Amino acid sequence: MISLHGLTKEFPGGVRAVDALDLEIADGEFFALLGPSGCGKTTLLRTIAGLETPTSGSVTIGSADVTALPPGRRDVAMVFQDYALFPHMDVTANIAYPLRIKKVPRAEREDKAAATAARLSLSELLARRPGQLSGGQQQRVALARAIACHPTVFLFDEPLSNLDARMRLEARTFLKRLQRELAVTTVFVTHDQSEALAMADRIAVMSAGRIMQVGTPSEVFQRPSSTFVASFIGSTPMNLLPGVVEDGALRVAGAVLPLPEGLAEGEEIVYGLRPEYMDLSRSAREDAFAGRVSVVENLGTSFLVTLEVGTRTRTRTGTGEHLVQAVVPEDAEPAPGAAAWAVPRHPRALV
Ligand code: ATP
Repeated sequence: MISLHGLTKEFPGGVRAVDALDLEIADGEFFALLGPSGCGKTTLLRTIAGLETPTSGSVTIGSADVTALPPGRRDVAMVFQDYALFPHMDVTANIAYPLRIKKVPRAEREDKAAATAARLSLSELLARRPGQLSGGQQQRVALARAIACHPTVFLFDEPLSNLDARMRLEARTFLKRLQRELAVTTVFVTHDQSEALAMADRIAVMSAGRIMQVGTPSEVFQRPSSTFVASFIGSTPMNLLPGVVEDGALRVAGAVLPLPEGLAEGEEIVYGLRPEYMDLSRSAREDAFAGRVSVVENLGTSFLVTLEVGTRTRTRTGTGEHLVQAVVPEDAEPAPGAAAWAVPRHPRALV
């Protein structure tokens, strides 16, 4: 549905915001562009919208190469972080604005605006101006404006970031449901990994103008392809520890772990395991990270426990202190200072 080939956007001064990027987004897909501030997400979205001209490469929507087309001829609707509503127009006029630009007759565009407003529970607010609406209501007006003209693609640039935490969760579910109903191909920019995991069919994790990994939420969560993705995805960061294969076992920060297939004697690796896949034991065991509880954080229904793990024996991959985190159930809260062993339950990721 959307194909990007060798897409590059270089700004004056030599910043390559988007760097030789290739990407295919399927028809009807909810696709998230995720990455830290400055990685090029917004520039990429604006290039798809036609608001930025690429330095090289192409943008195809459907079967048409739209690289040289202005935004108005791409059949895309964009929702911005600040909603970009017209302050002097009421809700109806804001929603109907793109239809007015398309020269849809007044009666028809007012009908369409009213129908879209009803769908987004805005019917009571049609006569108000943006200044008289809450953040969440403004966001729905911006969505209604995008929906009213039946585009083939929605482009969302952090549309939830101005909402408070609770509204954000509600808006997330609402937006996902709406996208399912309308089945319109959607590209959604966010720096919030939980938002991307919760909403998207697939996620592209970006860094420095490039895509580090593309996959479903479970793929990027369970099988990150690099330490960058591993540390970026997940509400608690993945444990990443140096390890080495010695005497037919995997030795990681003092723990002796079963040897995964495909590793050779002497090989050095980074061992990655999510805190959610780590159990805590109060008795010593060889296949665990021995340490002392340094911090216990209450997550509501569980605790995030940070262990200071000191390896006694020096290996080629280094010794010294490592921090290992485990998420434990609320009835297993350990005391700070206590000795504990973090046991990998689910050795998922070897990076
Ligand atoms: P954020 O999450 O902070 O919005 P982002 O991932 O969307 O970040 P972009 O806004 O696309 O990142 O910016 C990517 C890079 O391009 C940054 O280094 C930024 O400073 C640079 N950049 C963006 N717009 C311009 C511009 N008009 N002129 C020069 N450099 C720019």
